[in-house]
Amino acid sequence: MSHNVKIFRYNPENGKTGKLVDYSVKINPGMSVLDLLHRVHDEQDGSLAYRYSCRGAICGTCAIRINGTARLACKTQVNDLLEEEKSITLEPLSNMGIIKDLVVDKRPFWESIKKTMPWLVRENELADERLNYETKLDKVHLDQLNRSADCIKCACCFADCPKVEETPEFIGPAVSVQVYRQMFDPRDTKLDERLTFSTAEGGVFDCDKHAACVKVCPKDCRPLRAITFIQNKSKQVVQ
Ligand code: SF4
Repeated sequence: MSHNVKIFRYNPENGKTGKLVDYSVKINPGMSVLDLLHRVHDEQDGSLAYRYSCRGAICGTCAIRINGTARLACKTQVNDLLEEEKSITLEPLSNMGIIKDLVVDKRPFWESIKKTMPWLVRENELADERLNYETKLDKVHLDQLNRSADCIKCACCFADCPKVEETPEFIGPAVSVQVYRQMFDPRDTKLDERLTFSTAEGGVFDCDKHAACVKVCPKDCRPLRAITFIQNKSKQVVQ
């Protein structure tokens, strides 16, 4: 059975503004939104631009705006959308510039992640150098670290965060998850710097707690919990 699907089209080379274009697409059971995009691309318009990679919800590449919410195209079932909302509208992620059709410029997102030093920093080397990076973590540390380590950098939280939209300098939910992840690693020795960075102007205290990030995160990383934790941690350090 075919359904009408609206897809945002924009080509910077033709000088026209972007607009939603209607496509009639045959829908099969078990079809994901990514499958749908492939069908449009392969059968109707090979110039449609969109990103994807793993098709298994672990790379974060295929995130787009689906019926007004940032989601992974590979993880979203077409039939679920039709049951819930009876229509399908596919647009590029918000809060980033559009390069073409559904492809956005993720540089602002990557720049903000880079600022967090998203790697383990071990100063004061231990005598047995294997322990510097291979120390086993206890279960408490591991449990707290695991959920935030699941972040696949899809930018769904960044795209749907009203605070990022209002204040582009705001570090955003994914950055907070990244900082939180390092804070729980007892091998890391940059806690002070991470706290200073994440609590400065434009940092976690600017969060308005809309919680859109919690709703859209496909990996249940709970960015708002990370933000609240960092806020509380910085108050403890000051006291
Ligand atoms: Fe994506 Fe969740 Fe990571 Fe944000 S926190 S980038 S929504 S996986």
